[in-house]
Order: sequence, then C-alpha cells, then structure tokens
Amino acid sequence: MYKDNNINILRDTRANGKDRDWKGKKKRSLLMADHYGEAGLNKKAERMQQCADTLLFKKTAEKLKLFQAYFCKVRLCPMCNWRRSLKIAFHNKQIVEAANQRENLKWIFLTLTVRNVEGKELKTTMDSMTKAWNRFAGYAKFKKSIKGYFRAMEVTKNRERESEWYGTYHPHFHVLLCVPASYFKKPNLYVKQENWIAMWRKAMKLDYDPIVHVQRVKAKKESLDLNEIEQDIKKAVEEQNAILEVSKYPVKDSDVIVGDSVTVDNVETILDLDNALSYKRLIAYGGLLKEIHRELNLGDAEDGDLIHVGEENSDEVANGAVEIMAYWHVGLKNYVIK
Ligand SMILES: [Zn+2]
Repeated sequence: MYKDNNINILRDTRANGKDRDWKGKKKRSLLMADHYGEAGLNKKAERMQQCADTLLFKKTAEKLKLFQAYFCKVRLCPMCNWRRSLKIAFHNKQIVEAANQRENLKWIFLTLTVRNVEGKELKTTMDSMTKAWNRFAGYAKFKKSIKGYFRAMEVTKNRERESEWYGTYHPHFHVLLCVPASYFKKPNLYVKQENWIAMWRKAMKLDYDPIVHVQRVKAKKESLDLNEIEQDIKKAVEEQNAILEVSKYPVKDSDVIVGDSVTVDNVETILDLDNALSYKRLIAYGGLLKEIHRELNLGDAEDGDLIHVGEENSDEVANGAVEIMAYWHVGLKNYVIK
C-alpha cells in the first residue's frame, strides 16, 4: 500500500515483485458490465457491476492474501476470467509436475480448428465440437498413444475489415497432450499430422480437411554434464512456461470488447458470445491428467471458488493476522483501503 493524499490505495505485490492488477481488471469488468447493460442482459450486468467491489485480505509478512470477496462468475467477466486463469495455471503447474514425477513423459500442443462461423451458428458449432472431442478422444489410436490431456476451447472473432471472414467467429481447441517418452520413436504410437487431421475431420463429421496444428513441447536433455544441467533447468523452465501458455482461461476480454467505450460491434459480439458460452464448460481434463487433478483435489477452476486461486491457499493464515479491506472507489477509479 502507498499513501496518496491521505488515501490508501490497494497494492497487492506478489512474490515475483509484480503488482496484481486489481484496478485494471475491475475497470475492464465495469466496461464489460456497461456492454451487458446495453445488450439488455441486465441481471448479468448488475452482477458484474458488483464483482469484486469489496476485497477482504489478510496481511501476512507483507503479503496480502484474499479471503473474502464476491465474484460474479459471468462467463465474459474480465475480473472472473483473470481469477480463473490464475487458478488454471496454478492447477496445471501442479498437475504437470506430478505427471512428470510419476512417468517419463513428453508433451505436445495440438490445436484443432473448424471453419469460421457466423454468430448465430456459434453455439451449435461449439456444442458439436464438444461432442466431437469426446468421439476424438475415444478413438483407439488416441487412446493408445495419448496418456492424458488438458483442453480449452477458445473463440476469437475476425475483425479484419478486408477479410472475407470479417465478423465471423473462430472456435478452436487448444490441447495439451502427454505421451509416453517412446512416442516419437515408435511408429505404432506416433500420430502424424495427416492422421490428426483425418481423426478430427471424422469426429467433427466435416466435408473438408480442417486446419490442425501439432507442436512438440521441447523435452529435457538427460545428461550429467554440468553445462548441460544448467541448460536442462533452463529447458525445464521453458517447458513449464510453454505449458502454462495454454493454461490460461480461454476467454480474453480484449477479444470481446475492442477499445475503451461501448460500441455497437462490441455489444453484438457480447450477445453472440454470452449466448454461446453460457453454461458451457470450456476446459476439461482427461486420462492421467484428470486422475491427478482428482487426486490433488484441485476443485473447479471455472465455476468454483475464485477467492483461493494459487499458492497462497496452501499456507494457513495465522489467527489474528491483520485484516485489510479494500473497496472500489467509483470516483478515484481505484481500490481504496478502509
Ligand atoms: Zn466477475
């Protein structure tokens, strides 16, 4: 916290020295709520307006730990999606570490796409993709080669005015797969890109070849040479970071509302996306990663608790720790400490 004209402004600094951007997220949330109001989605607008209005922290060793707050949980809320992202990243970090400890694994990123669709077809397309995924992950080839997965459905919108796809939506899956260490060497395990395309085409029942990206997450070297060990650690960190890249909650508010004011285009986008995303689970785990998720008792990152999202929930807060209450100051457009 720092003093500003006798007003204490909230400052939530993490272990890495970075400040958590409560203010920025709250501002985007309020802007999103204005769009919801404009779209006639008044109940959700109201909930979002109140999202994270008041934050109750416990202060321990100069660190703040959130212990009470209201989060609206609307699918497109920037504040809630930030909390969801933090939680998913934290979960996946633990899951990936546990999986690597348990088995000798390699990691792959897979992106599965379909052709862009109009807003009115978005919901049905996303529903068919979810069903198609279940068929896809049930194919013998998949089950034989893949030990576990994390998948996240993302939707982006084409906003290039010159493009023939302008204004259409691009729903796609980002998938993190873990495979046995021998996967790349064994032809009976290895899935070629053309096979991925054929499998996704079949699962989606498409009459065209969909675009599918496959990329291997670079593996660690197994060597005892000292220089290489350093390289190893570096690579492990890089691998971890690469994995965390797909671990964000797949709704970016910058994709939903463009600019800083309410526009017709933004309102239309919200009507399309809110309808398509309501009640939909955008993330899922399978196989080994699902097992570990269950064993670690990690809970639901989408609709569950958004107060405890990271490492801070593992250490207990001493009784009598100082409580700090921050509330959103409408005039100052910032969080103020009471
Ligand atoms: Zn919210």
